[in-house]
Amino acid sequence: MRSHSHRPALRVLLLLVAFVIGSFAFALPSSAAARDTDGDGLPDSWEKKGKKAPGGLDIYKLGARYNHKDVFVELNYTEKIPSQKVSCSGLDILYSAFAKAPVTNRDGKKGVRLHLDAGKTCKSRSYNLGGSGRISAAKAADYQPDGCIHPSSYGLSPKRKPVFRNGIVAEDLAVCGAAGIANQNDFVVRLRGGGSDWSLVTMHELGHIFGIDHGPARGFDVMSGGAVLFGTNGTTHVVDYRRYTIASINEASLDETKGYSTGSAAGDAYLSKFYAPQSCGGQVRLVGRATGPVDWDCSGAPFWQPPYASYISSEPVSADIDGDGAITELPALPAQWPTVLKQLGNGRVGEKG
Ligand SMILES: [Zn+2]
Repeated sequence: MRSHSHRPALRVLLLLVAFVIGSFAFALPSSAAARDTDGDGLPDSWEKKGKKAPGGLDIYKLGARYNHKDVFVELNYTEKIPSQKVSCSGLDILYSAFAKAPVTNRDGKKGVRLHLDAGKTCKSRSYNLGGSGRISAAKAADYQPDGCIHPSSYGLSPKRKPVFRNGIVAEDLAVCGAAGIANQNDFVVRLRGGGSDWSLVTMHELGHIFGIDHGPARGFDVMSGGAVLFGTNGTTHVVDYRRYTIASINEASLDETKGYSTGSAAGDAYLSKFYAPQSCGGQVRLVGRATGPVDWDCSGAPFWQPPYASYISSEPVSADIDGDGAITELPALPAQWPTVLKQLGNGRVGEKG
């Protein structure tokens, strides 16, 4: 093998060059040359017709456009999950939650297009992009010293890695300590008996990936305490990130005729879909509509009977509505969607930074 007998120093140099080129290849899209008109982290040069992402994936064919925000998520299931259990209702909830994102794209259309590869076709649309499959729970857990499945790109083909986030849907016991866990790019969720519950957790984990964290129950978002996620009909989940700023509220002087507010009519109309979380004797109570009237000081009986109006006082009341043991001014909570929309352009997708 004479042709391969480089002098050692040259061989080291060649290896070094190969390494440098290899690591720079991933950094290239963040240069000025990699224009990303829609700010979704997928450069225009990947999203335009006839082009391909690094690795050879044709994302235009999969529905991506350079002038509309696109998010690609593949779901992979551990072997004990029957695919019919990953419900169409759950997939539809995720799709429409992103489709309703408060953003107008360069193409004039609203929302974020969530390209979900769940390996199944539903009445509403196809969620099959040809990559979703089965993974071995034992093998996925093998990578982890604690024997539990953690978020990873396990199950995602190498050519999809620059484009897709990976979600592992696992049997409950394979995920330790939480209903779901996310890292910067990927997540794992428990199926939790099927239905659409898993999609709520999936939306929560995607929130972490897109830069938002947990908050108080009065945030009225999928990142906050579970109970308030129920709409005022008591059964329908409101699966969304916070889309309006929740105004500050003073526990020392609460107006029971009013609840939480956003400062805009559209925001308040949206907020009225929720119950107002209030701490009564250390327990979160959900009775009044978030935009009021609300029995802030819990003067109503625990087994509240109508008319609710009899517990609404006309004078300001004082109450520890967040249950932290202190009467304080609760600060305003900013909308979360702006962070999510900004963060779409970062992270592994598009291989930026
Ligand atoms: Zn969380």
